[in-house]
Amino acid sequence: MDTGELKAANEEELKIVTRLHTATHLLQSALRKTLGDTVHQAGSDITAERLRFDFTFDRKLTPEEIKEIEDWVNMVVQKDVSMGYKEMPYEEAIKTGALYFEKEKYPAVVKVYSAADLKTGEVFSKELCGGPHVSRTSELGRFKITKEESVGAGVRRIRAIVE
Ligand SMILES: [Zn+2]
Repeated sequence: MDTGELKAANEEELKIVTRLHTATHLLQSALRKTLGDTVHQAGSDITAERLRFDFTFDRKLTPEEIKEIEDWVNMVVQKDVSMGYKEMPYEEAIKTGALYFEKEKYPAVVKVYSAADLKTGEVFSKELCGGPHVSRTSELGRFKITKEESVGAGVRRIRAIVE
């Protein structure tokens, strides 16, 4: 089963990797909020067991920073906000300030996925992506970082799960 970005052996696995994929979007936002805008995606890999996210940063994260990142993601999960998308031309999408992966080749028309509170207009995550995603953040369950390590000069790797 191949739904573009996500690969899964069956429907059951697809549900899990979809949750982990949505969690990856929130994780990237949380990293930038906690560590600053120099954080950029360097890679991503998702299996039915865990998500793995590589990002640019030049030192080990402190336990306080890891807790702050987890807490922020779980705050968005608890808020149960909508995860929806709009389609628009690539250039326009970049101008909205949505995050994108520099190594990725995008089509001329892209989807911009946002985790947003539709009542207040507050946006927690906005990213170019093919999907699929959960429709509400509460579907993720509890987010937990299981490992943080270096994978080369200036690149860190986080492994995380949803429970
Ligand atoms: Zn995505």
